[in-house]
Amino acid sequence: MDKQQELTRCSVDKKCGGCRYRNISYEEQLSIKQHQEETLLSPFGRVRSIIGMERPYYYRNKVQAVFGYDYRRRRTLSGVFQSNSGRMVPVDKCLLDDETADAIILTVRRLCDSFKLAPFDKRNGSGFLRHILVRRGFMSGEVMVVLVSAVPAFPSKRNFVRALLQAHPQITTVVHNVNPYETELVLGEHSEVLYGKGVIEDTLCGMSFRISPASFYQVNPVQCETLYQTALLFAALTGEETVLDAYCGTGTIGLLAAKQAKQVIGVELNRDAVRDAMENAKRNGVKNIYFYGGDAGEYIETAVQEGTRFDVVLTDPPRAGASVPFLRAVCRMKPKRVVYISCNLQTLARDLRYLTQRGYKAKAIQPVDMFPYTKHVETACLLSRSDMNF
Ligand code: SAH
Repeated sequence: MDKQQELTRCSVDKKCGGCRYRNISYEEQLSIKQHQEETLLSPFGRVRSIIGMERPYYYRNKVQAVFGYDYRRRRTLSGVFQSNSGRMVPVDKCLLDDETADAIILTVRRLCDSFKLAPFDKRNGSGFLRHILVRRGFMSGEVMVVLVSAVPAFPSKRNFVRALLQAHPQITTVVHNVNPYETELVLGEHSEVLYGKGVIEDTLCGMSFRISPASFYQVNPVQCETLYQTALLFAALTGEETVLDAYCGTGTIGLLAAKQAKQVIGVELNRDAVRDAMENAKRNGVKNIYFYGGDAGEYIETAVQEGTRFDVVLTDPPRAGASVPFLRAVCRMKPKRVVYISCNLQTLARDLRYLTQRGYKAKAIQPVDMFPYTKHVETACLLSRSDMNF
């Protein structure tokens, strides 16, 4: 068995549904993704060669699991929901997950049994733990464990946390989150910090970032640096520009851009992420950046009405892509350059069509493989106005 086969051996192959390309060599995966990119995006411009990973395993810095119970063997299980049946597939170890995170999840399983904490059972609403979320800062080494329960009362929580920390001294914070709702979302609104600061820090492209349980943070930090560097290269900032970082999350890209621009405004819907973004500006001593909590489309529409102009718009929307009001306002404002970062080829192609029909031209398209062994692709795209000479 060669190294790749050994690494990709998986006990829940096919059942879990996470690894679309498990039996395909990494080179082949890259060429499949390249082909998909070219099929959808070549009408807009030349697609550069996809940037792959040197070690395409254990790259996820965020691991989530759902809890269930094996009634026959009388023990707690954890794993993932099977996408087609909605049933739980027990997972002990995953070739994509951070190994520390997987080990912590196994310990929590064991502790649930020894503390007699039955997992939540949605059929009758009994039990306690629903999910676990573990995040590790790859550079900082800080580890956050979020235990998500259906009800607020956490029996023997002090002893539970003590036992967890004893088994994994690298854990820097433990948070208890309550999610009583019938929902696809892992986290509920209410959280209590049981140990540590309730957040972790990590370093990306030489800057330090604070990450809360609910904030978005790219799951593959190694490739994320490449992606951000590409986006900044495309933005070609000289120190004179006013920049909009739309869908800015915890402010990562905007903060990096601020070092090379006159001023940056970040807009983000998630309040926790905005709070993190402000804190991140402070901790990195960045003074020429401002953050707004709200919808990116509404923000830029108002900016256009007020006559505000951005020279460069960086946009990194979720899978649904940018909203029409957002794109419409961009076309009315006419920034010199738009750098569009996308995690969904279909919505990227749709939005590129909109922008290119209204005066923009795709000048560079760079795919980056952020999610090896899965079907997902990430793309950074530079657009500039064809009626202006840049
Ligand atoms: N640029 C950031 C985050 C990208 S993820 C990074 O690289 O880390 C997309 C972000 O868009 C998420 O943080 C999500 O909360 C935010 N978001 C979703 N819908 C939004 C909207 N309508 N307006 C503004 N932000 C939105």
